[in-house]
Amino acid sequence: MTGIIALSQNMLQNIREKVGTNSRFDTQIYRRPTRTVMVGNVPIGSEHPIVVQSMINEDTLDIENAARGICRLVDAGCEIVRVTTPSIAHAKAVGEIRSLLTQKGYQVPLVADIHHNGIKIAMEVLNHVDKVRINPGLFIFDKPGVKPNDFTTEEYEYIGERIRTTFEPLVKKLKEQNKALRIGVNHGSLAERMLFTYGDTPQGMVESAMEFIRICHALDFHNIIVSMKASRTPIMLAAYRLMAHTMDKEGYHYPLHLGVTEAGDGDYGRIKSTAGIAPLLADGIGDTIRVSLTEAPEKEIPVCYSILQSLGLRKTMVEYVACPSCGRTLFNLEEVLHKVRLATSHLTGLDIAVMGCIVNGPGEMADADYGYVGKTPGIISLYRGREEIRKVPESEGVTALIELIKEDGRWVDPV
Ligand code: SF4
Repeated sequence: MTGIIALSQNMLQNIREKVGTNSRFDTQIYRRPTRTVMVGNVPIGSEHPIVVQSMINEDTLDIENAARGICRLVDAGCEIVRVTTPSIAHAKAVGEIRSLLTQKGYQVPLVADIHHNGIKIAMEVLNHVDKVRINPGLFIFDKPGVKPNDFTTEEYEYIGERIRTTFEPLVKKLKEQNKALRIGVNHGSLAERMLFTYGDTPQGMVESAMEFIRICHALDFHNIIVSMKASRTPIMLAAYRLMAHTMDKEGYHYPLHLGVTEAGDGDYGRIKSTAGIAPLLADGIGDTIRVSLTEAPEKEIPVCYSILQSLGLRKTMVEYVACPSCGRTLFNLEEVLHKVRLATSHLTGLDIAVMGCIVNGPGEMADADYGYVGKTPGIISLYRGREEIRKVPESEGVTALIELIKEDGRWVDPV
């Protein structure tokens, strides 16, 4: 047994020496280093907590309702809110929404979404928001069917020049006002010439963003955040990884906004979003996230926080560790977990374990701050860390757990 352990430690040591500590064999998440981009008063980048954002689905022209939608998102914990601005009238309405929010005491940074040929709209709305989001595939938009299958080098470059001259005034205004830009590529709306040149691929998505990044760089504008959204998770994963790699290689350390677009609703929408966002975050890629659900926008926020908490990137709630229960379980685990959660869910920052038996429970509590563990039939043990503190009848378990937390000075009354 000792030999096996010694061999394992040697192997681990060899691995550490070969790959260094900053590697996927480590339990830490090492965030990809980025510059900090301010969106209003919210910093985005690797030096800051990962920011949660969403988008209202009210019509921006309906100022009262749009402002109410934004307030609901902020009350749910959303830190940046996006609104759509398909016309100049919508862009002007954002100014009124902003005033109404200020009257209500809401200071959340606002982002305007700009779509087809939207340069005039972007120039107007920039007066009222902290960031604009452009879609490179739609920024200069010729109706489909205009020579989609046959771009000569001259035509490719001609469109590139049109993009540059159209985009430059916006970049200059962003720079003057010290506001932020999201270059938001969507897999489903790549420009015709990108499709022709690179196909419907992550490379095409990355090149779409790089074209705009290079224009910004030439104008010495760097308040840039980039996204590579797709509704198919493997494409989204590949596009973000390639984007991070390409930017790092070329010396552009811009933050990334992560999301799986059109993820749907219910359990599957949540799982699909998590399947896309979590692996990237675990690899250190991503500085702000949005979970897109076909549900009320405020329902997206708890999903974002759960993803961040489960990876240890932000702690916004109690972390519950609970075993799945089995033949050894000494009490109704589901019921007790529910009771413990009801009593303690406001104690943000604590880790609390509820385990069915002492055979495996104490060892598998994952260093929780407190443990509630089945000892013998009708009796539970309370743990502080790995130390068993006291045994009590099961009927007094939750009350005794609260008492123990109070004795340690870690209890606060729920508001
Ligand atoms: S901790 Fe005990 S009761 Fe829970 S699953 Fe493991 S062995 Fe079963």
